[in-house]
Amino acid sequence: RTVYVNGQYLPEQEASVSVFDRGFLFADGVYEVTSVLGGKLIDFAGHARRLQRSLGELEMRSPVEEDELLEIHRELVRLNEIEDGLVYLQVTRGAPADRDFAYPPEDTEPTIVLFTQSKPGLAESPAAKTGIKVVTIPDARWARRDIKTVQLLYASMGKMMAKKAGVDDAWMVEEGQITEGTSNNAYIVKDGKIITRELSTDILHGITRAAVLRMAQEAQMQVEERGFTPEEAKEADEAFVTSASTFVMPVVEIDGTPLGDGTPGPIAKRLREIYLEESRKVAI
Ligand code: PLP
Repeated sequence: RTVYVNGQYLPEQEASVSVFDRGFLFADGVYEVTSVLGGKLIDFAGHARRLQRSLGELEMRSPVEEDELLEIHRELVRLNEIEDGLVYLQVTRGAPADRDFAYPPEDTEPTIVLFTQSKPGLAESPAAKTGIKVVTIPDARWARRDIKTVQLLYASMGKMMAKKAGVDDAWMVEEGQITEGTSNNAYIVKDGKIITRELSTDILHGITRAAVLRMAQEAQMQVEERGFTPEEAKEADEAFVTSASTFVMPVVEIDGTPLGDGTPGPIAKRLREIYLEESRKVAI
């Protein structure tokens, strides 16, 4: 596999990053994941925009312009012959001479790394047909979840809690309300209305979330952006999650309680179809 590191395309075995890199020592970095369907990037512009926002919030400078970033994405997709899969991009605050909590001097070069993962048949995932099961867990992450940092340890712990409970994922709860999934935004549907937590620093502003809510409104579906409790979720007609790599994924069980008849709901299924169709049309 060919990866991209600081201006170079290299075989993965030859690519390296300093042990002093602040991404490694402080999780001082941000990332994006963009899906590839039919060899084309899904919503690249949205991911590029959020990357700039994350960098700005951390006073980190961008190592490349958007047009160059697009070229790197495309070149890796081409070199690695990715039909369906994803491109992972990470920018960290670089590698100063010594470990120090304070940010290093402005002229410290950021580290930029990109790689691809091939996932044949990504859009036809079997999980989308059966739906996934989730458990609720406390949200023990830091308070700036709107910044897409590489500090993902609690998300990993959450995934492991789900695994140990015999389910697929965890929905996190703070002050009695669901924030989001470990790596996705969370939704419930009640009486035809799609309900999802409003944007704030409490959740990641999902690129898929923005697209799905816009498409739902264009399809005359009702959307309400507000928090909801685990109890309300368990009484919902259906539920789903969204992310760049899973698109719209139905949720069929919460904390052991099946939703509706325990199969993917009609609104989640329809939104998945609309999202995939519309996104493929404008993929680049
Ligand atoms: N929420 C969290 C915590 C995430 O990690 C992710 C994706 O990685 C999302 C939501 C979904 O965001 P997007 O649709 O941009 O992939």
